[in-house]
This record gives sequence, C-alpha cells and structure tokens, in this order.
Amino acid sequence: MDASVTLLDQLIAEGLLIRTGVEGLYGRSGVFEDVIVRFEALVSRVGGADGAEVIRFPPAMTRRQLETSGYMKSFPQLAGTVHSFCGGDHDHMDLLATLDEGGDWTQKQEATDIALTPAACYPLYPMVAAQGPLPPGGRLFDVQSYCFRHEPSADPARMQLFRMREYVRAGTAEEVQAFRQRWIERAEEMIASLDLPYEVVPANDPFFGRAGRMMKVNQREQGLKLEMVIPVANAQPTACLSFNYHQDHFAHTWGVRLADGGPAHTSCVGFGLERIALALFRHHGLDPAAWPDNVRRVLWG
Ligand code: ATP
Ligand code: ZN
Ligand code: MG
Repeated sequence: MDASVTLLDQLIAEGLLIRTGVEGLYGRSGVFEDVIVRFEALVSRVGGADGAEVIRFPPAMTRRQLETSGYMKSFPQLAGTVHSFCGGDHDHMDLLATLDEGGDWTQKQEATDIALTPAACYPLYPMVAAQGPLPPGGRLFDVQSYCFRHEPSADPARMQLFRMREYVRAGTAEEVQAFRQRWIERAEEMIASLDLPYEVVPANDPFFGRAGRMMKVNQREQGLKLEMVIPVANAQPTACLSFNYHQDHFAHTWGVRLADGGPAHTSCVGFGLERIALALFRHHGLDPAAWPDNVRRVLWG
C-alpha cells in the first residue's frame, strides 16, 4: 500500500464513501452499508437475550431538550440546530436578493424547535423520566441514530454525520456498573472475533473551554468513560466503542427515578458504526468478499 495514498482516498476511489465537498459529510455505497447492517446484526445477536426495549428516534431532538441536557454548556462547539425560513413574501424577496448577491442568506432564517442529535441516547433520558419511576430491576434500551457533531476533519473516522448504536441501562449503581462491565467483556470478544486489534483505555469527553478542563480530569480519574480503540486511519488508534457511566447525572438533569423514588444511575455502551466499518476495511481490505473466512462467517454466517 502506498503510504501517501490515505485510507480516505482509497475508500473514495473504491466508491465505498462518496465525497460531498464538505469534510466529514459522505455518502455510503451499498457495500459499505451492508457491512454496517451485518455488524449491527452481530450486536443484536450478542445483546439480544437481554430483552432490551428497542426505541428509534429520528436524528433529532427538541431544542428544549438540548438546552436542558446541558449540551450547550459542555459541548457548544459540536452542537447543530435546524434553522428555517419563517418569513413572508417580502422577506422572501430579501432572501432571494441576498442569494443573488452571493450574500449570507442564512441570516434570514430562524432557529426551529429542532436540534440534531449529538449522541443516540440523548433523546431517551427525557422519555424515560416522563414515563415515571423505573420498575424494580430497572430498564434496558436499544437505540440507534445518525448523530451530528460539528467537527469537520479530513480524517474519515471523524465524520459530522455518523451512526451510533447503543445499549442504555437505567437502574441502581450496582445494576448499571455490572451492565457496563459485561459489555466491555462482550465487546472484547466481538471485536476479537472480527480479527481487529483493540485496547480498552480510560477516556474523557471534549468538555469545552477552561471550565471543561476539570471535567475532563474528573471523568478520567473516576473512570467514568472507557473507550475501545482500534487503529483506523491515523498513527493513534481511534475510539470505536465507548462505555460510559453517568452516575446519577440524568436523575438530576431529567428526573429519572428508581422504583423507590431515589435517583437512578445510567450507563450506555456506544458502537461507532462507521468507525467499526472503517476499521474492518482498513485491516481486511476494501473488498468484503475477500475478507478472511472466519471474519466473513461472523458477519455473514
Ligand atoms: P472521539 O474522542 O474520537 O471524539 P468521542 O469520545 O467523542 O470520540 P463518544 O462521544 O463516546 O465518542 O461517541 C460514541 C462513539 O461514537 C465513539 O466511540 C465513536 O465510535 C463514535 N464517534 C464519535 N464521534 C464520531 C465522529 N465524529 N465520527 C464518527 N464516529 C464518531
Ligand atoms: Zn450514550
Ligand atoms: Mg468526540
């Protein structure tokens, strides 16, 4: 492999990803999508017996929910909101004139009630809280969504729109910690069965600014976020899965309660679906038909 030809160049040349002209915004071919479908089926086989409640939201949440979640406090640099033209005929004339002049027509738009989902589990917590106290034993969910993060990059593993599959557990501290530990072990088995090299390492979220520095240190020191990293397109391996323990954060943010009324703890395990597909292409080649037999058996049976 010519080192000057990047993985992104190869994926584009092969038609697996389709450039749009904006970094981190790609189309995907049928072959790329099939890998994601097969990997998700593997996730469902591994997690299936747990009886998770399957919930799907569109890749959006209410702007109000984004506000309440504290996202603008912690990650304002990543957020995306949906804006729309809300004017009448006169404003429309203005907009068209601005367009003609090559000016900034987006100034004529207003924020709608909709924001883009930054992580697949975000719309779930307000839903769970609104449904009342958890039953004894807590609840378990299976969610998947396209997610938006404004982090344009030439790294194919850092997209602005990508999919996250998650299992989310709500319950007592003991219940959710056991859930997280079980998924770390399962994920290690799954990724090893795909012949991918991996490591599970402590991590932190990119909390914004000076105030965020302490948050990063605390999250790391308390072991609240672990990532499974796999070499993808860079010298440094890339986080392809994450295992997050939120403690009782969402009890305080949303009011998620235990059966006895106490604050619930939550945890989520997130699979970065595009990153896992990219890792498979990187390690096994651009043609899934030519992947090692054992890997093909795991994914295609
Ligand atoms: P990173 O440290 O690389 O930015 P992250 O800590 O922001 O990752 P999480 O917030 O834990 O990632 O998101 C869960 C999973 O979603 C990650 O493990 C990763 O696989 C995937 N993911 C996160 N950001 C992106 C992105 N920009 N493009 C593609 N996949 C992503
Ligand atoms: Zn999550
Ligand atoms: Mg990130």
